[in-house]
Amino acid sequence: MDCLFCKFVSGEIPIQKVYEDCDFIIIKDIAPQAKNHFLAIPKQHFKLLSEATEEQSLMVGKMLKKISTLTKELELENGYRLVINQGDDAGQTVFHLHVHILSGQKMGWQPA
Ligand code: 5GP
Ligand code: ZN
Repeated sequence: MDCLFCKFVSGEIPIQKVYEDCDFIIIKDIAPQAKNHFLAIPKQHFKLLSEATEEQSLMVGKMLKKISTLTKELELENGYRLVINQGDDAGQTVFHLHVHILSGQKMGWQPA
């Protein structure tokens, strides 16, 4: 399977990690949409929440909670936004589930 994020996770493509544990990594997005734009990427490959196993679903919950504790590393002090694009209408371009973490500035709301 040719998956960019699996290659980041395995180290086949070296990438600087902001955080890593046994479940997921956090990296900086290559095309930031806010002052800080990180991607939390599970180590297991799955595309959609609707396709996640029970174990993967629990891991996503743990991952979201862990993100909320990385206040200094991710500059979360004044609030932040989490986005999970799912499928075509949302504009998902990498088909390995990931959470966008946007922080460090006031944000508006632009659905389109
Ligand atoms: P999606 O559109 O699937 O929700 O998000 C994919 C994200 O991956 C985009 O924000 C895009 O900028 C980011 N991305 C794509 N290729 C790379 C890369 O090679 N390195 C990094 N750090 N981010 C990438
Ligand atoms: Zn993958």
